[in-house]
Amino acid sequence: MQPDPSDAYEALVQFLYRAPIGLAQIAPDGTVDMLNPMASSLLMPIAQNGGLDNLFEVLAPIAPQLPRLAGEFGEPSGVICEGMRAPLPLEHTAHGNPQVLAISLMKLDGERLMAVINDATIEVQREQETLLRRLRNAARTDALTRMPNREAVREQLQHLVNRPLSAGEFAVLFMNCDRFRQINDTLGQAAGDELLVQIADRIRGALRPPSDRINAASGTGQLAARVGGDEFVVVLDGMRNRDDAERVAGRILDALARPYRVLGHEVVCGTSLGLAWGAESARDADQILRDAGIAMVEAKRAGGARHQVFETAMRERAERRADIEAELRQALAEEQLFVVYQPVVGLLADGGTDYAAGVEALVRWRHPVRGIVPPIEFIGIAEECGLIGALGDFVLERSCRDFMDWQARLGSAAPRLIAVNLSRAQLGQPGWIDSVRRVLQVTGMPAGQLQLEVTESLAAQDQGIQLRLHELKALGIQLALDDFGTGYSSLSSLHLLPVDTVKIDRSFVSQSDTSAHHRVLIEATVKVAQSLGMKTVAEGIETQSQADVVRAQFCAKGQGYFYSRPLVSDDLLAWLASHEAIAA
Ligand code: C2E
Ligand code: CA
Ligand code: CA
Repeated sequence: MQPDPSDAYEALVQFLYRAPIGLAQIAPDGTVDMLNPMASSLLMPIAQNGGLDNLFEVLAPIAPQLPRLAGEFGEPSGVICEGMRAPLPLEHTAHGNPQVLAISLMKLDGERLMAVINDATIEVQREQETLLRRLRNAARTDALTRMPNREAVREQLQHLVNRPLSAGEFAVLFMNCDRFRQINDTLGQAAGDELLVQIADRIRGALRPPSDRINAASGTGQLAARVGGDEFVVVLDGMRNRDDAERVAGRILDALARPYRVLGHEVVCGTSLGLAWGAESARDADQILRDAGIAMVEAKRAGGARHQVFETAMRERAERRADIEAELRQALAEEQLFVVYQPVVGLLADGGTDYAAGVEALVRWRHPVRGIVPPIEFIGIAEECGLIGALGDFVLERSCRDFMDWQARLGSAAPRLIAVNLSRAQLGQPGWIDSVRRVLQVTGMPAGQLQLEVTESLAAQDQGIQLRLHELKALGIQLALDDFGTGYSSLSSLHLLPVDTVKIDRSFVSQSDTSAHHRVLIEATVKVAQSLGMKTVAEGIETQSQADVVRAQFCAKGQGYFYSRPLVSDDLLAWLASHEAIAA
């Protein structure tokens, strides 16, 4: 049996009539021909005088552009606009009422248009929520590494802090790259960014996935985050015992210690890690992060590339360091720093001593309360807080000025060489070579009589440092390897370093007259240095017998309390005068 076409028509009309969307058939000028009930219920609240005769007039307050759009539409039929959002005026948006309508308009033919009107409130709300969630995530995510950021860590830590102690301990690992600034400065910011991305990947790789979630309630999870320039944090929850957390710390450090390939350069960068226990630290997310950060600084001070577990005594030390930092700034501004000079004497083959061979410049701090402060108490802090540049510039310029002053006053009896210590942070500073050049220029210091001292560990580092050292050599400046024997480069790699002089560390010299082992080491060092055309200086000679031993090993120069302690400029001149008299 054929279906009755009038039945089908009736079904269609019923469908359109009951459809949960508003449908209206209108004339090109907006006059309404037909409306379904949903359309009237959506439109009624905004109809100005209760009439729904003309759709364009009804919608004018929220979609005034409709008549124009319809008028401009030149095609015989088609979509004029689709899903146009029209927010309703506030007075209509009581709870439960539609807040936004979506309007579509279609041209059926020359006579008729079809309007589809929807309540888009829920749809719009959902879109807004998604957008907000994305914004919130973006505000909690580090754009470079895609890791959670400091805000996200603080939030999650606060959950852990707030839960009862019985729920178990958690560990906070705070990591900082030991040489990031230097790499960033020498290879450029793009390389620095790339390195950070690789560090983040390695940290994630060293954890078992997922590495971005803590579930405070179930006491499980790990979170790896970037909380600052080159600072990363890992939160470990649900550790069975403390050894486990230290093992994870070790695993991360191992992963980070492997060389990186960054924009064509091989880069080695150790990481210092501080570990704080959640249950032990103050009950506050910021305090725990601070504690872990303090332990990280201690790890760095202990030489870097290691981890250190937080202890409360560290807090006091950190405060003291912060005090010193503030005072050091003031010291630089108020010229509380000064330079003393320790004579370096020539050990002549005929048994004589050349007292005017040279001096080493050593910085001192005349503290208004504590008196004279030795450099070991503030050089490290100056390096950490970025004051080393200004400090080093001051020492270099002061030394060169004094040296030129001695030349003017003593002529040929003046020291012939002045040695100035360099710290790694100085070598890494962009533009530093230019400031050395400037100091030579303004003081008139001959480059050949200036010796800059670098430590083994520094000189043996990456290509960037090597490049800087060669630039210094190109200026005519001499280079010395300080504290030789204590660092990690050995005699066999001495030839790789662009130095003229090797300074044998005090720890060898001080045992030279009592330990055959140390004597042999000194002898070997002198021989290898000689074969490479380098001079040797024995540091820290305190006794006649030590002086005799190093002289017998053909060490060219000596330095130490046996000859003189470091002296202020005037005392140095007096010392030189008295020895000149003896030597003459
Ligand atoms: P250093 O370069 O190895 O300097 C030698 C240190 O040994 C000096 O200590 C010196 O006073 C001390 N010394 C010299 N002879 C003897 C001796 O016979 N016996 C003993 N026990 N010690 C002796 P100081 O002046 O305290 O300097 C310590 C370190 O601080 C220096 O070690 C150097 O690494 C650093 N330093 C000093 N001045 C500066 C500076 O201007 N810039 C930088 N970057 N570092 C500096
Ligand atoms: Ca030195
Ligand atoms: Ca030394």
